[in-house]
Amino acid sequence: MAFPNIITDLINYFERLPGVGSKTAQRLVFYMLNFPDRELEEFGSLVGALKKRTQLCSTCKNISEEETCKICSDTSRNHRQILVVTSPLDVVALERTDYKGVYHVLHGLIDPLSYIGPDDIYLASLVERLEKLVFEVKNDPDSFVEVVLATNAGMEGESTAHYIRDLIREKGFDESVVRITRIGRGLPVGGDIEYADDNTLSRALDSRR
Ligand SMILES: [Zn+2]
Repeated sequence: MAFPNIITDLINYFERLPGVGSKTAQRLVFYMLNFPDRELEEFGSLVGALKKRTQLCSTCKNISEEETCKICSDTSRNHRQILVVTSPLDVVALERTDYKGVYHVLHGLIDPLSYIGPDDIYLASLVERLEKLVFEVKNDPDSFVEVVLATNAGMEGESTAHYIRDLIREKGFDESVVRITRIGRGLPVGGDIEYADDNTLSRALDSRR
């Protein structure tokens, strides 16, 4: 059946969201016709402002309202332990564990089949961060930086982890100063961190090598 244009247009947008099929999209849009005008306007203006009111944290590249995100600004956390993850949603999942280090969000994985190379994810900024940290710990013989590779266990996650390991070694960081670990087995193969339950995540973190 033919819907009014505005309804068709909205349905098309909802259909583009992950996990929303055309039936669900129709249901959502018709459901929204029951919202009071004020709420619909607020919803619309929030969607419009979504990218204007967020940015990538200048340090860890997580989504943030400020130039530096809350995690990077938190002085009680260990800023010399960097958990490298694929997406901001991984941070949300890992924040449910008792992890007290910081993060680096790659915003993707190296995937040649989809034409995503090392320059398309936030790797250069990770190296820059390490350079700064290594400079900081230089005069403290007991301190080191730990990079925990927590990309998921699928093929792209594994190859990206390998790439990062090689990259850090190629850059010539001393192995005792920049220590690289990989989040332990315990994450389902090919399963995203985002979907793993809290216990699985905590165990995987504890068993990093
Ligand atoms: Zn940050």
